[in-house]
Amino acid sequence: MPQRPLRSIAKSEEITHGVSTLENPAILEKLEQSISREEEAMALKIPRCGRCSAACELMPLASVSGEDGPLKLTLLDLPVFACPKGHKAPVHGDFMLWLIHEIRAREGQIAAGREQGMIFKKHLCGGCGKDLAPKPKRRQVFPYELKYEDLAPFKLQIDMPLYKCTACGKEQIRSTKDLHGHVAQAVVGINDGAGFPHSG
Ligand SMILES: [Zn+2]
Ligand SMILES: [Zn+2]
Repeated sequence: MPQRPLRSIAKSEEITHGVSTLENPAILEKLEQSISREEEAMALKIPRCGRCSAACELMPLASVSGEDGPLKLTLLDLPVFACPKGHKAPVHGDFMLWLIHEIRAREGQIAAGREQGMIFKKHLCGGCGKDLAPKPKRRQVFPYELKYEDLAPFKLQIDMPLYKCTACGKEQIRSTKDLHGHVAQAVVGINDGAGFPHSG
């Protein structure tokens, strides 16, 4: 393997990781576009609207949600670009990808059981190792605060069903995998719910 500078190796690892964790072509396309602009500064520029060319403004979006499988994600007061006609765009071409990474960076903080079995899967308590109840008892919102670059902070809510351990009674999500595997698609739901275009 030819010698490459450290920096470009680090970048290619980042890219490989991004591709392997993304199922959505729209986000992949964004990732590729962002890579082609890799030397461009991250400084925030308020662009013209991609659909009607009117001047955009930075404004908070009160609430937007996306769901996939057991996972529901909600963002409150998300800063977005909006034009006077109400067309909206994310604050950076990389934003949705960044969001997926930020959510996944927090998934380990949520108490979880573990999946067992290759074909006949069951879920065991992350505390005592005994069986979790087969059905969830309730849902819970796990709140976080996120901040993109120098913009105002906004709130993230990770909403998942909780399963009770049949032995020790501890409540938890079935597994971290149960959350992880749905993040990208739920973020696509947020993208669509916010009215963001699928590229650009
Ligand atoms: Zn517009
Ligand atoms: Zn237990």
